[in-house]
Amino acid sequence: MNLETQRFCQSCGMPMGQSDEMYGIEADGTTNSDYCKYCYGNGAFLYDVTMEEMMAICIPHMVEQNPGMTVDAARQMMQSYFPHLKRWNPQKDR
Ligand SMILES: [Zn+2]
Repeated sequence: MNLETQRFCQSCGMPMGQSDEMYGIEADGTTNSDYCKYCYGNGAFLYDVTMEEMMAICIPHMVEQNPGMTVDAARQMMQSYFPHLKRWNPQKDR
């Protein structure tokens, strides 16, 4: 896996792989490579949530996908990288 080209959703932090099938969809049907299809569709965010609410949504999925990871560990990890994601940090153009 090449981290240079690996894309992460700038809303939930989920890895989206090299293809565009996980990408969000704009209102005109084109893809938005900044966000995943679970966060972004038809040109808008699907969930109008705060960063804390997004973490709460993501933690159970992350624990489920990472056997051995605790809820606390998942929350700590998200708290360290969520503030760097574009959706939660509009000023920072990464
Ligand atoms: Zn997402």
